[in-house]
Amino acid sequence: MTKGTTNGVTKAQIKQFRTVLEAKAEEIQTSLGSSKAAKALDRGEDPPALEDLPVQSHEEWIFLNRNNIDVMLLREIEEALVRVDDGGYGICPECNDPISIKRLQAVPWALYCVTCQEELSEEPQERRRRERSYSY
Ligand SMILES: [Zn+2]
Repeated sequence: MTKGTTNGVTKAQIKQFRTVLEAKAEEIQTSLGSSKAAKALDRGEDPPALEDLPVQSHEEWIFLNRNNIDVMLLREIEEALVRVDDGGYGICPECNDPISIKRLQAVPWALYCVTCQEELSEEPQERRRRERSYSY
């Protein structure tokens, strides 16, 4: 039984995205290798804060943080794969509209549609973009 509407993407396309997502997840896991960041991810922990580490670990901290970006991306991909299984993939949880196929092709792990993503990433005080009362 299909639940939810997938106006944006067809089942065949979702299957393709699943393959892309799984490949990307594997790629990241490989690049993380046996790094501490990957182990931290396995434990569901975040890498340690800089101030918690002895000075000689500074380089390691930089390494961890670089990997941290990959770890975050990996989490997003894993969440996207969960949505594939749930049938919620390709639907924006904010506005319940289907996410455009173009966006999914560019960012297969996108959670929100472009509009909601932009609104969420904006600083609250910057939301009043419509008020363009000032002119140069
Ligand atoms: Zn949306």
